[in-house]
Amino acid sequence: MRAMILESQRRPLKSAEIPQPEPGPGQILVKVNACGVCRTDLHIVDGDLKEPKLPLVLGHQIVGTVAGLGPGAEGFEVGDRVGVPWLGWTDGECRYCRSGRENLCDQARFTGYDIDGGYAEYAVADFRYCFPIPEGFSDLQAAPLLCAGLIGYRSLRLAGDAERLGLYGFGASAHIVCQVARHQGRKVFAFTKPGDEEGQAFALELGADWAGGSDQPPPEQLDAAIVFAPVGPLMIEALEVSAKGARIVSAGIHMSDIPSFPYAELWGERSLMSVANLTRQDGREFLELAPKVPVRTEVTEYPLERANEALDDLRSGKLVGAAVLRVA
Ligand SMILES: [Zn+2]
Ligand SMILES: [Zn+2]
Repeated sequence: MRAMILESQRRPLKSAEIPQPEPGPGQILVKVNACGVCRTDLHIVDGDLKEPKLPLVLGHQIVGTVAGLGPGAEGFEVGDRVGVPWLGWTDGECRYCRSGRENLCDQARFTGYDIDGGYAEYAVADFRYCFPIPEGFSDLQAAPLLCAGLIGYRSLRLAGDAERLGLYGFGASAHIVCQVARHQGRKVFAFTKPGDEEGQAFALELGADWAGGSDQPPPEQLDAAIVFAPVGPLMIEALEVSAKGARIVSAGIHMSDIPSFPYAELWGERSLMSVANLTRQDGREFLELAPKVPVRTEVTEYPLERANEALDDLRSGKLVGAAVLRVA
């Protein structure tokens, strides 16, 4: 099968022909139709995340068709449309798994990091971690729901019932979260790179109440903020424009250092926190909610062979919305 392979970090992916994987016990074989490109993929290529399996097939926002079932795999039939997310396996027995926090599992294995992902014509996945794809979304439009949407949704949940929500970095995830937050009746303030007028216009088009550069003060204080851009100082910038009790949530897996700041900024029961990974419950809830909003994903399509270009465009901030590889 055709695949884009990461042989070593800080090198471009290489186009290769590799053997099609066989579904093992409990696994389904997925014929990949589309695979979303996530900032986490960039952090893996760039070496910010230190321990990927190598060589590796990246990609953890897979939308495909079930093409086979390994022994013991159930819940799907050949021909079903299926989504494969970042959380690929957990042990089910550590203290986190036993307390409904499988996203924090000590032994968790992740798609496109510990397990080969979807930058290829086929992938295998543990059926217990896969989701049916809701109707009303094409394969390309559904792909960004699986991480940008899902982890964005978890971030939004952890932001609490904040009425005035700030989103820092208006990319794949924020453009989905903005729609969900507006659907929930919240006010959304979108912060882009200073001067990114195209990004600001995009945010307003998706229902944001205000959009501006991260150097501009919002018209009201924030009750919560989600920081999607991997830029530590934004955590403090968000804190500085927040109201008492605000939660400032970092949604990314990697971020530059957060500068020190006076305690007075945190005083008033403000908190800084991170969101890690997803639980299957997050996935079920979000994929049920997405068609009701309804979420509209803005997708920039690349053929599989141009995965490096998609990653470069994401790195340089050129993209509007989400990058998705069309595989079939
Ligand atoms: Zn566990
Ligand atoms: Zn992701």
